[in-house]
Amino acid sequence: MVLESARPEGSQPYGKVYLVGAGPGDPGLFTLRGKGLLECADVVIHDALVSPPILAMINPQAKVIDAGKRRGRHSMGQTEINQLIADQAKDHAVVVRLKGGDPFVFGRGGEEMAALVELGIAVEVVPGITAGVAVPAYAGIPITHRSQSSSVTFVTGHESAGKYRPQVNWRALAQGSETIVVYMGIHNLGTITTELLAADLSPATPVALIRWGTYPQQETLIGTLATIVAQVAETGFEAPAIAVIGQVVSWHGVFNHCRPTGTLWP
Ligand code: SAH
Repeated sequence: MVLESARPEGSQPYGKVYLVGAGPGDPGLFTLRGKGLLECADVVIHDALVSPPILAMINPQAKVIDAGKRRGRHSMGQTEINQLIADQAKDHAVVVRLKGGDPFVFGRGGEEMAALVELGIAVEVVPGITAGVAVPAYAGIPITHRSQSSSVTFVTGHESAGKYRPQVNWRALAQGSETIVVYMGIHNLGTITTELLAADLSPATPVALIRWGTYPQQETLIGTLATIVAQVAETGFEAPAIAVIGQVVSWHGVFNHCRPTGTLWP
């Protein structure tokens, strides 16, 4: 998709910003379009969850800015990042904003794009494979299956206090979606499982947590709605991880060995 916004006549010419999804980590899953842009970028502004082999594709002449880097205790705020991208577009022709997974899936890509379009800057989005699709696949879990799941929901498990919208309705999801894929859900897993159980999902419903999916160090923890919270506490399982909840998780034991050999990336 290309969004060219009307720029007022006579205003300063801007470069173009490419909002590029880097995929979940494995460089083999990065798009050819994204790679081509990294090879000709003047500036690359990237997030924390972009893997080293993808950063290594950036041409050596480009200015590289790590917007995910924690400075003191805080990483850069969203308004600050929007401003940074806009400033770079004033001085450079090809500005790549590189984000983990897909830019529009829990990546604030929509906010960044809106801010740039409002300033009259041309923006193009290059989708990436989102973690919610690729990470279960690398753990041998088909997120839909003709006999087990005709629906899948991607949902965030992390909604900050003072949120601008009502909470995720976990009980409605329990009823309405056969597979639930949760991003950023590890910290709130207790609340999530309690809500799903309260909505009458069976305590035996299988749950997979997959950490550093598509990376060589990918780890999977398999349990049920009744057991998974205790398993996380016992094993010290940590983010970044995707949670998959639903009957399809039971395929993990059958398909796990079918993981692509590309996961052994250097
Ligand atoms: N835009 C990204 C998601 C950003 S939110 C996308 O489309 O994938 C960040 C969350 O995504 C993490 O907290 C984690 O829940 C998930 N995530 C991203 N990469 C991951 C990976 N390689 N393995 C497991 N989870 C991942």
